[in-house]
Amino acid sequence: MSALAVLPAVAPSRPTLAVDLGAVAANVRTFAALNPLLAVVKADGFGHGAADVARTALAHGATGLGVTSIDEAFALRDHGIDAPVLSWLNPVDADWEGAAGAGVEVAVPSLEHLLAQPPGARVHLHLDVDMARDGAAPAEWLALCGAARRLERAGALEVVGLMGHLGCADEPDHPANATARTRFAWGLETARAAGLRPRVRHLAATSATLTDPRTHHTLSRVGAGLVGIDPSRTTALRPALTLTAPLVTLREVRPGTPVGYGHTWVADRRTTLGLLPVGYADGLPRLASGRGEVWVSGRRRPLVGRISMDMAVVDLGDTPARPGDPVTVFGPGDAGEPTVREWADWADTIEHEVATGLGSRLHRTTVATPLRSLA
Ligand SMILES: *Cc1c(COP(=O)(O)O)cnc(C)c1O
Repeated sequence: MSALAVLPAVAPSRPTLAVDLGAVAANVRTFAALNPLLAVVKADGFGHGAADVARTALAHGATGLGVTSIDEAFALRDHGIDAPVLSWLNPVDADWEGAAGAGVEVAVPSLEHLLAQPPGARVHLHLDVDMARDGAAPAEWLALCGAARRLERAGALEVVGLMGHLGCADEPDHPANATARTRFAWGLETARAAGLRPRVRHLAATSATLTDPRTHHTLSRVGAGLVGIDPSRTTALRPALTLTAPLVTLREVRPGTPVGYGHTWVADRRTTLGLLPVGYADGLPRLASGRGEVWVSGRRRPLVGRISMDMAVVDLGDTPARPGDPVTVFGPGDAGEPTVREWADWADTIEHEVATGLGSRLHRTTVATPLRSLA
């Protein structure tokens, strides 16, 4: 059964984003079968709802949760979620005491961050393995490990993990992956030589978990894959989002009629236009203007003219439709409707950006298609 089949049979009275937690559950199981799983629910669970994705992940095999900021971790606690949580990106004056008090583990990317930790902190030392982005530079790693070990011996904190993150894992054959794996192995050895014996060592996110067991170590941090996004495009995961909106009005226009801001599209024949009450403020990328399509009455129809802030226009042609009829902007693709991946392609971006850019004005609901095995 597809997500579409369990959407309310009545036409939605407003733009509605349905999150299929059955799809999330199936994806979680796929990953939990490969490696122990830290479910990454940053950025509101990649736009799918952090608490819903977190609960679903924990119920289907995840052992803990990962977020970017400590505030995101606190939000999970406020939802009553008491599973282990790791937060990995915080400024040096973050609420470390609050984190320790809430049982939130934190990643430490520098000596300054390490020295800012309160008694009882549980930390993961983070090594930058190839992106010159977050994590300690290799040149600082030895000093970081040594200082962490001294603090640990003094009983000031506990080093529970070592982590790295791959920059090119979505291209499994990229030569940088081998270099990064080697650098992470060096980081682990250096930490060991300093006397550290952390419980977990983690390098892989979605792509590496799916494509390269050499990156698995003791844990995977998986975000995109849980919600059906596979950056490596190697594995059939279940997309979890369906966005529908009702047609507001229909109008017949003559050839030569310009449509939307800037008149970027002009009807070349008599046709019927439908107005949809969703626009770029709701997360439809404006860059997809002139390329995007939607699903109406079992047919693909093009959006025409510019996508505006609050609305978009669909060229219905001779598609039978009436005001109030539901239009699927994207879904899992089972029936032929566009997918988030297609929307990302139309906007020259990645699925992550479309999913995390969906607006707060959308009515949100969850559905749960039954678990099923992936082909
Ligand atoms: C976002 C993120 C992840 C999850 O990556 P996915 O490719 O979405 O699975 C893992 N680790 C870190 C450090 C991240 O920032």
